Amino acid sequence: MVVAAVQMTATERLRNYIGGKWVDASGVGSEPLYNPATGEVIAAVPLSDASDVERAVQAAGAAFDAWRETPVLRRARIMFRYKELLEEHKEELAAIITREHGKTLAEARAELERGIEVVEFATGAPTLLMGKTLEQVGSGVDVDMYRQPLGVCVGICPYNFPGMIPMWMFPLAVVCGNTFVLKPSERTPLTAMRLGELLAEAGLPDGVFNIVHGGRETVEALLAHEDVRAVSFVGSQAVAKAIYHGAAAHGKRVQALAGAKNHLIVLPDADLDFTVEAIVGSAFGSAGQRCMAGSVLVAQEDVADRLLERLVERSERLRIGPGDQPGVEMGPLIREEHRERVKSYIEIGQSEGAELIVDGRKASLPDRGFFLGPTIFTDVDPDMRIAREEIFGPVLSTVRVQSVEEGIALINRSEYGNGAVLFTRSGAAARAFRRHAKAGMLGVNIGVPAPVAVFPFSGWRGSFYGDLHANGEDGINFYTERKVVTSRWV
Ligand code: NAD
Repeated sequence: MVVAAVQMTATERLRNYIGGKWVDASGVGSEPLYNPATGEVIAAVPLSDASDVERAVQAAGAAFDAWRETPVLRRARIMFRYKELLEEHKEELAAIITREHGKTLAEARAELERGIEVVEFATGAPTLLMGKTLEQVGSGVDVDMYRQPLGVCVGICPYNFPGMIPMWMFPLAVVCGNTFVLKPSERTPLTAMRLGELLAEAGLPDGVFNIVHGGRETVEALLAHEDVRAVSFVGSQAVAKAIYHGAAAHGKRVQALAGAKNHLIVLPDADLDFTVEAIVGSAFGSAGQRCMAGSVLVAQEDVADRLLERLVERSERLRIGPGDQPGVEMGPLIREEHRERVKSYIEIGQSEGAELIVDGRKASLPDRGFFLGPTIFTDVDPDMRIAREEIFGPVLSTVRVQSVEEGIALINRSEYGNGAVLFTRSGAAARAFRRHAKAGMLGVNIGVPAPVAVFPFSGWRGSFYGDLHANGEDGINFYTERKVVTSRWV
């Protein structure tokens, strides 16, 4: 059954995983899968059609009754075993992530750790799925609230966290008693395949977890399928919005996590050694391809020059190269088209009149693969496109402000509301930021404030469409429906 995902050859077409078997897709189209560090094609990804989706949803539907009847303690034990297997296979999984995404092995390990956190949270299912009881609401009348699974749930993933984001979805969904169909990104599908194999090894019954590869057509068939009860989506803003409306129009529960434009405010009292490292990690880690990446540096005037001088020096020293090589700090972008898109934003910034102080196009880069160096703009006006639009690459735009209040006002004008960060030693400034910044995930002296999995991943405004976020109690509520029983026994 082992798919040996790491040893794929360029001619091999990946298979879907349906009802516990690896099966060929009926959809005739396919897309090349690249290693972004070399530009080489490593496999072909099938574009599954409606008949493939039908097969996967049917397998998940057929497995549902037995799975929902499986005692919750047994479901939780499978998650305990799964966590052990993920730990055992962490290096192998990290190598797959680096090969298909390009990020460094250290970044790949870190994302796996964040995914494993969700599995750890899922092992708490016997407590998390407890209901509530209220006795004697009337004479002889008691009320009990139970949590029950929904049925077939679907997950649609972006390319940038091939391990962590699938694990934001299926561990909680299945431990709650649902069955699942995962549609990994067509640009990074291998990690999800290995995650599926390990789930089977952990003892998950056939059909409870399924994978269909593909793109837009595959997603549309999943959204339209009448047996699908809930849709979890993570990806770009325009698609998230369309998925939210499309899934809701088909009567499905939906959570759609979208794009971002995150601000990093620096005040003059910040510890600059620490702050410079944190900003470089936030803006250029994973080559800027993170929904929590710092993208707009908001520097208070009195610290701006000192800060920029050090940022420029540190960014120019960043070691860029294939993520599996020792000492490399920044890998490539995902595809040549994406590199061109990010470069076009550098041109836009120049044409808008911002000053380019580090030009990633001129960095010393490997001669193959989709690399681009770190890029820093200064004198950016908040109305410029490079200050407002998601670039999703290693480009940092600096805006100067007079005060923390002015910085907070910039955050609050953004169309997005995923993350925002403040670097300071002032409790009063931190408190004002915490109370008034309109974004769902804030950091104080933390470069990338992605919350641990017991909390919701809680983007606001254009960064999220839906009501219940991923992870934490929201995740449990999303994957269950509550049934309230009122009884009279006298
Ligand atoms: P994307 O929107 O291009 O693709 C995401 C998924 O949607 C993929 O599985 C893809 O096959 C599918 N898809 C693409 N176009 C579609 C369409 N027209 N109709 C239906 N399905 C479609 O996103 P991406 O480029 O893979 O990922 C990067 C984006 O994801 C960034 O915008 C980033 O901010 C966002 N993201 C957000 C979060 C968050 O938590 N808010 C986390 C990670 C990534």
